[in-house]
Amino acid sequence: MGIKFNNPYFFDPKIGKNNFFLFISFFFHDTIGIDLGMILVEKLLLGSHVSFNKQEQLLGATLEALSYGANTFMFYTGAPQNTKRSSIDLELTSLAHKLMEEQGIDQKKVVVHAPYIINLANNNDKYDFSIRFLKEEIERVERLGIELLVLHPGSHVGLGSEIGIDNIVRALNTVVDSKTNVKICLETMAGKGSECGKTFEEIASILNHMKYPEKIGVCLDTCHVHDAGYSMDDFDSILTEFDEIIGLSKLWVLHINDSKNSKGSHKDRHENVGYGHIGFENLMFAIYHPKLKEVPKILETPYVGIDDIEKAKAYPPYKFEIEMIKNKKMNHNLIEDIRKYYKKD
Ligand code: FE
Ligand code: FE
Ligand code: ZN
Repeated sequence: MGIKFNNPYFFDPKIGKNNFFLFISFFFHDTIGIDLGMILVEKLLLGSHVSFNKQEQLLGATLEALSYGANTFMFYTGAPQNTKRSSIDLELTSLAHKLMEEQGIDQKKVVVHAPYIINLANNNDKYDFSIRFLKEEIERVERLGIELLVLHPGSHVGLGSEIGIDNIVRALNTVVDSKTNVKICLETMAGKGSECGKTFEEIASILNHMKYPEKIGVCLDTCHVHDAGYSMDDFDSILTEFDEIIGLSKLWVLHINDSKNSKGSHKDRHENVGYGHIGFENLMFAIYHPKLKEVPKILETPYVGIDDIEKAKAYPPYKFEIEMIKNKKMNHNLIEDIRKYYKKD
């Protein structure tokens, strides 16, 4: 268990030194009309996965995020498992940008997730297709005015990690050029099957060979690192290791998920916040970590079924998980609250 001394999650506004901040904050609010408190305290960048459909596109995605009380979000530009993509509607896009600005959503912190059929690690007959599709995806993301694109490094499927990583390096250096405006965030993986990127060393060995290193960073997924064998009981040590091997300035996105399995299981099955093997306190520690204030935190936790018997996932948990995280208090009735809320309509 790491010592959780520098985490504002354990920050009590009633304690001494913070009173000074509250005083300054009230001063600004009352005399100048600037809500410094809103700017400095409330700036938790938190959102979830949302859907992106053909009819409403980025506008629909923004509205869905707002309905969850989020100030950032992530989406796939189409079904994650296929390559059918509709063309980007510029009017819907500009309406979405306007709405984001009005509602205080920073466009630069919104995230697109590349489809997982892209596999850059195996140079089989689908390798060129993956490269081409990623190139097109980057263009779509640019057209949407979005900067962050999360990508799974890929699975080597029997070639071995070293060759897999060589393939990834070659592919990324083909796709990214001096004109690329999108920042690709390689996701840390659970190590399911032959996934590359299950250790910080593997991610670093990709990043160290980039022709345009400023355009490639990392997305850390809490469920994945836990499943890969890192201890979420000691997140400070994870960050220290990340900093030593990759560099903390490369951490651009955080995926917040609990895990259905124990540490090192290599399973990659997400669980709702506080309901898995990582636990509420450990996730809160990561979410409110002072070194990660600028990093958007995205929930990818599973939808909740209509009851315990029905297997089909029906209701999004995000509104309630976001509320719980903002309240800094575990909701032991989360699942029931979600069902009650959505059953009404
Ligand atoms: Fe992912
Ligand atoms: Fe993820
Ligand atoms: Zn996952």
